[in-house]
Amino acid sequence: MTTQLQELLDNNRLWAKKVEAQTPGFFTNLLSQQAPQYMWIGCADSRVPANELVNLLPGELFVHRNVANLVVHSDLNCLSVIQFATDVLKVKHIIVVGHSNCGGVAAAMNDRRVGLSDNWLRHVQDVRNRHQAWLDTVDPSQRVNALCELNVVEQALNVCQTTIVQDAWQRSQEVVVHGWVYGLHNGLLEDLAMTATGPEDVGSAFENALAAVKARYAKPETP
Ligand SMILES: [Zn+2]
Repeated sequence: MTTQLQELLDNNRLWAKKVEAQTPGFFTNLLSQQAPQYMWIGCADSRVPANELVNLLPGELFVHRNVANLVVHSDLNCLSVIQFATDVLKVKHIIVVGHSNCGGVAAAMNDRRVGLSDNWLRHVQDVRNRHQAWLDTVDPSQRVNALCELNVVEQALNVCQTTIVQDAWQRSQEVVVHGWVYGLHNGLLEDLAMTATGPEDVGSAFENALAAVKARYAKPETP
């Protein structure tokens, strides 16, 4: 068994050399400050690497990832990242990014026991249960992806409802909340139109985004 992970360390040396060659002073310029405009809340899945997907360099994207890209009202980890991003870094955009075929969402959807994470994924099951009647109408092969999108919309709503974002909006700080989904099959990010720029937007953004998800997954009418 490899115990030293030399290959990864070698990769790192090559990467740092390449970046520095492309932009001399790249690392030293980042030493004193970071000023990212965007915060990304995504899934921990190794196939959804935040910076790469949007071609952003170190210093440009503030990232929080967990299983199934959840924003739980009492999760001090996620809330702390949102708070630092909003209050200290003053990011302009907070983007919740789900992805198709999410293993966490699939486990939750199908009541598959994973272990301790079942308790975390219970939040996805809450989303599933809230929309169960509609999900039952979706083609079974499409239900996991439909729930992935519903989950993004619900988690983006949770971001809007945090005291952090509510307080930022209250003091007229510009911060826009978004919901996106990434297609594992084609490498493309799609905007789910769960876009809120202030408290007055939240309700309509949520309803419109939900309606759009439902329209996308509606079974074609049988003539
Ligand atoms: Zn996932």
